[in-house]
Amino acid sequence: MYRIGIDLGGTNIVAGVVDKEYKLVATANCKTNMPRPADEIIADMARVSREAVKNAGLTMDDIDGVGVGCPGSCNLDKGVIERAENLGFVNEPLQEKLEKLLGKTVRIENDANAAAYGEVLAGAAKGTRHAVCITLGTGVGGGAIVDGTIVSGHNFAGGELGHTVIVADGEPCSCGRRGCWEAYSSATALIRQTKAAMQTNKDSKMWALSDGGTRVNGRTAFDAMREGDETAKQVVDTYIRYLACGLTNMVNIFQPQVLCVGGGISHEGETLLAPVREIVAREQYAQNTESKTVLCAAELGNDAGIIGAAYLDAAL
Ligand SMILES: [Zn+2]
Repeated sequence: MYRIGIDLGGTNIVAGVVDKEYKLVATANCKTNMPRPADEIIADMARVSREAVKNAGLTMDDIDGVGVGCPGSCNLDKGVIERAENLGFVNEPLQEKLEKLLGKTVRIENDANAAAYGEVLAGAAKGTRHAVCITLGTGVGGGAIVDGTIVSGHNFAGGELGHTVIVADGEPCSCGRRGCWEAYSSATALIRQTKAAMQTNKDSKMWALSDGGTRVNGRTAFDAMREGDETAKQVVDTYIRYLACGLTNMVNIFQPQVLCVGGGISHEGETLLAPVREIVAREQYAQNTESKTVLCAAELGNDAGIIGAAYLDAAL
């Protein structure tokens, strides 16, 4: 049998058919096309689900169930998205509506949690029961699995790992607080840090690498550092310091078997991870334990959320 996982994002809706080995066998997608009414979005979720099933050469009879990774806070008991600002959803009964449209059991989960679950089922944390997965994107997304269960607190709003403060009264965060890890270690933050360093160093190679500052992205500082640019190296070193600070906090709180890092910046691989690993090893509280957290890159990219959502009820 097969299951469907849906990644509901502010830009795209992607549905995937996942087999019992947790392999993604076919997908279909469409634009979310915000702003528009929730019912239209949910109808499109059902449509791309059927399309993905067709692309897999299957029929809906082959599908056991459906899971959705959604942004914002999801009440799992009620199957309701309580609030998702980028979709304009407030108390949206997604589960019930999608079940009616597809005639299948539907489960929902926060998207970062679903992605973490996917990495545990089939990716970098496969075979573990204690894992934390961090995604460095527009924000810092995170999901924690403790003893095989997704951590989301008594009200399903927990596990917001990116909104833990690493600099009191620091940079403003999208959540309204100041100094969150997200405000220092997201791709958005790295771009802000890169631009600031460029302003004070007009002779940096980062200017040429970003078309005179018009195309600064998460790779600009890394690329310039590889060309020997000192300002860029300082940007990367500072970014690594912040990232390692937050990751050490994750190790101290959860002591996961695997702590994996995904998102665009993670494609820097060992350039990013080797120095981060060194700081985490030096600073973590449990210096004398024999078994230490493995810090590595996530493996499944955008597929993690689909695979995790499809098998939310898989026993670990
Ligand atoms: Zn925050």
